[in-house]
Amino acid sequence: MPKKINILILASVLGLIALSAIQAYLINNTYKLKKDVFIETTSRSISRVDDFSPHLDSINDIWQDYFLNLLADYKSKKISKQDILSLLKLKTDSLNDSYVDRYKKELAEKDLKHDLKFQKRIKTIILPDSTGNDTIFNHLKSSKLHLLGEKFSEKSAHKVSNSMWLTDHSFERNIDGETTTLTYDLQFETEDFMNIDGWERIVIIRMKWLLLCSIFIFLFVFGLLFYSIKNLINQKKIADIKTDFVNNITHELKTPLATLSLATKMLKKDNVKSQPAVIDSTVNTIERQNKRLQNLIDQVLNNSLGYKEINLKREKVVASEYIDTILDDFMLSVEGKNISLEKAIQNEDTTISIDRFYFTTALFNILENAVKYNGNIIGVHSSANKSFNISIKDNGIGISTKNQKHLFDKFYRVGNKEIHDVKGLGLGLYYTNQIIKAHKGQIHVRSIEGEGTTFTIEIPLN
Ligand code: ADP
Repeated sequence: MPKKINILILASVLGLIALSAIQAYLINNTYKLKKDVFIETTSRSISRVDDFSPHLDSINDIWQDYFLNLLADYKSKKISKQDILSLLKLKTDSLNDSYVDRYKKELAEKDLKHDLKFQKRIKTIILPDSTGNDTIFNHLKSSKLHLLGEKFSEKSAHKVSNSMWLTDHSFERNIDGETTTLTYDLQFETEDFMNIDGWERIVIIRMKWLLLCSIFIFLFVFGLLFYSIKNLINQKKIADIKTDFVNNITHELKTPLATLSLATKMLKKDNVKSQPAVIDSTVNTIERQNKRLQNLIDQVLNNSLGYKEINLKREKVVASEYIDTILDDFMLSVEGKNISLEKAIQNEDTTISIDRFYFTTALFNILENAVKYNGNIIGVHSSANKSFNISIKDNGIGISTKNQKHLFDKFYRVGNKEIHDVKGLGLGLYYTNQIIKAHKGQIHVRSIEGEGTTFTIEIPLN
């Protein structure tokens, strides 16, 4: 059975993990899809900003003219390739502030609701001619050149568009005292990028219902599974406890019944009928076994009571006197077993309000257990402050921390023959706890396996 439960738990956990993995995969895919859609729609909505804004257009025209003239100077061998790039940079830097300002205004009019940055970068500047390509700039050889727009890192940049400008340009230059008209072809490639601050958050907010539903369903399935497994384990524990109880009670019933059967057989024998002494002793045996059976049944019936079913008849007793009497009775019951008692009673005059019968049963259960489970030195300590406390300590076999949790459960017995071979029904501590609860008190256990156990009872004063 435990094997089956373990397999079931493992299968359920694996199933849950697989389900979560599929769910995570689907969410991730949706996230990517939503991200693509978001980036795509945003880039579409800004891609033509330049074209529809006369202000931006005029700034573009200024740098384009300047750029074409730089190329003309280069073609006339007045400046170098490097000069083109550095002069173009100086010019665009001087135009950039008003370009960015204007661009932001255009975006504000579009009401995009995201913090968006834009950037135009140069990819290539090539002057093709009949002898080949004269490359002024190629982004593959040096890093991309920022033209207009705001600065942001490469990592957070999303590409908006690519544009290629193929043109030929005629210009006039004074060469050797003569005004000459020259022409060159131009291949100019740029790339537009944008940066959206916190786009991940925006996409996640757009997915909020999906995420919330997924989390809810996951928690629901997880909770259901957890609850079912917990229930299954509890059922199994209860079934085990019941089996143990049936085994224990059968064991307890067997001995008196066997003795009774032997005794009746004995009484039937003809030679016994003429021996009154043997008859007397056999009848005594029957009586004892009968009493034992009666005790057993009473124990099961009474000790199964819950604290609500216990009707206390409280009386005020002086705690120290009461404990002394109990301990005297107890020591009498274990006479000859070599048990030593260490007693420390504080606040001798304290009076407590208890049901003498029930409270005595509770204390006796603990004291008897101390001896049953191998204790031979028993320490009883009591004190009274805000409440009345009595602790009973033994040097017996002790109880592991794991088992201490269930100690007060009905029918619970620690382990089996490997731990001890003491008979019992697992009702003593349950009943003790119920009695203490009926007195509105509490019982605690502290124990170290192999060293001993201390039970502490605390009940309110008055
Ligand atoms: P029973 O003694 O009939 O089994 P109890 O309810 O009195 O039932 O005790 C429950 C279990 O707690 C016992 O089976 C025993 O394993 C453990 N136990 C109780 N008292 C002690 C003790 N003083 N030392 C060690 N184990 C104890």
